[in-house]
Amino acid sequence: MNSRPDSNGLSAWGDTPRPRGAAVLADPLLNKGTAFTERERDLLGLRGLLPPRVFTLEEQLHRSLIAVRGKATSIEKYIYLTNLQNRNEILFYRLVMENIEEMVPLIYTPTVGEACLQYGSIYRRPRGMFLSLRDRGHIAEAFRHWAQPGVRLIVVTDGERILGLGDLGALGMGIPVGKLALYTACAGVHPGYTLPITLDVGTDNVELQAGPAYIGLKDKRARGAVYDEFIAEFVAAVQDVFPKALLQWEDFGNTNAFRLLNQYRQQLPSFNDDIQGTAAVALAGVIGALRLTKSTLARQKILFLGAGEAGTGIADLYVAAAQAEGLTEPEARARCWFVDSKGLVVKHRGDKLAVHKLPYAHDHAPITSLAEAVRVLKPTALIGVSGMPATFTQEVVETMAQLNARPIIFALSNPTSKAECTAAQVYPWSGGRAIFASGSPFAPVEFNGQSHVPGQGNNIYIFPGVGLGVLVSEAREVTDEMFLVTARTLAQLVQPEDLAVGRVYPPLTKVREVSLKIAVAVAAAAFDAGLAAVPRPTDLAADISARMFQPVYRNYA
Ligand code: NAD
Repeated sequence: MNSRPDSNGLSAWGDTPRPRGAAVLADPLLNKGTAFTERERDLLGLRGLLPPRVFTLEEQLHRSLIAVRGKATSIEKYIYLTNLQNRNEILFYRLVMENIEEMVPLIYTPTVGEACLQYGSIYRRPRGMFLSLRDRGHIAEAFRHWAQPGVRLIVVTDGERILGLGDLGALGMGIPVGKLALYTACAGVHPGYTLPITLDVGTDNVELQAGPAYIGLKDKRARGAVYDEFIAEFVAAVQDVFPKALLQWEDFGNTNAFRLLNQYRQQLPSFNDDIQGTAAVALAGVIGALRLTKSTLARQKILFLGAGEAGTGIADLYVAAAQAEGLTEPEARARCWFVDSKGLVVKHRGDKLAVHKLPYAHDHAPITSLAEAVRVLKPTALIGVSGMPATFTQEVVETMAQLNARPIIFALSNPTSKAECTAAQVYPWSGGRAIFASGSPFAPVEFNGQSHVPGQGNNIYIFPGVGLGVLVSEAREVTDEMFLVTARTLAQLVQPEDLAVGRVYPPLTKVREVSLKIAVAVAAAAFDAGLAAVPRPTDLAADISARMFQPVYRNYA
């Protein structure tokens, strides 16, 4: 018996009988632990099941914060927080929301990368669904086993490209779990609406698979028709059992990611955060940087290191935005250049280019090194999405700084160990002139008596608000236009005091406010495009704000 979200986002029992005793304590959405009052303990049959002292939520928060800080390593903190989430979600979300800058790196990147690597050993209870090839023909049936019937938001991965860590198979589950926690903490999507899913289609990571703690299928990764039919059954089952659900594809390898997004985006509301969320956050960062360089999108030349989901997603959104500034599509594409593992992406390179790279394969002589590409192409912005650390070398950064008064340099690869360069490198190498953002957080850097605060180009600014906006409008499709308005909205929320220290994103402490504004913009785009399934409220912002989940204890007495 579980609580479920009602229309105002708070949990309610509806018509189901009130749970009692141990069942209350076992349900993380009902459990208040030591905060149950004497009267509630009597009413709910909890007498004797809890220690006698009654704590307030504030006292519990204080205790939990001390406990987290007392753990020696990030992974221990992650395990503590996961257990808390499984025990008492109100306390967990309150703790995360009130200490967002400290907690996000623990429940998501960078710690979640390490957590995924160790998922087999730290796994205690399922927080989400594992659907494997053995469940073929039974996926809808499996969905009906899920305790919460009103699922509205699914994050699904097949574990093939987890962060910058590659194929982790079933261990990828940490990602959808973490991402959905962020939807709740950052945008107030009720946890009862959310469902993390890992599709286990095998793994090609033989080393991992051979380990004693591997929890997935010990098969080679399925490809071709077997894979496609499995996905088709999965999507059909989502539509059948959770017809109002928004589906977020997460950390699929790029041979499948682009295909699945394009194949299903008009069949059900769905998006791929690695492609579209990353695009919006990076574009917002560039728009924010242009407020410092006093330039326009149409005048940029962007060189990307890495031509995968993130890179080509960003370029595609840049092209849409530059067209809105008056460039033609070919003109806008001509301003985006890519270096991948084989060098500059150009026509006639000799290898067969993946479809998503073709629009950016310009007529140019081959160039094999990034430093040479920077010298020859003279970009205004350099964006790293390669998963390759130490690739923005001193030579590369110095050249960018010779070419531009304020070079835009974003090292977006995650986790921290994969960043193309660090904040401590980029500021001195550029004489303090780089406008820098990174995927994982870096501490501020003092250089020449000035404090430089790196912005974190974290998708966390984007997907929670996009999800909330789609959910409240019940949009039947998630459009590219929604990501464009999202990027513009985020860029507008950067304040002059942020820009003054070089930060092109708002501080993370404002993420709830940011998510609300983005949700409003996305829902408005859905209403304007005639894609919404519900009537437009008179005051969209007030309506959405009132639906956001607030982690407060209900009074049972
Ligand atoms: P992907 O696997 O789709 O693409 C990686 C690309 O990098 C490929 O084109 C590959 O050819 C290229 N590459 C590999 N080695 C290279 C090398 N030595 N030199 C140049 N290019 C090389 O992955 P993706 O989804 O595009 O993600 C790439 C990175 O971006 C990851 O580290 C991911 O964590 C990061 N990322 C960050 C954010 C963010 O900060 N907001 C969002 C999404 C992805």
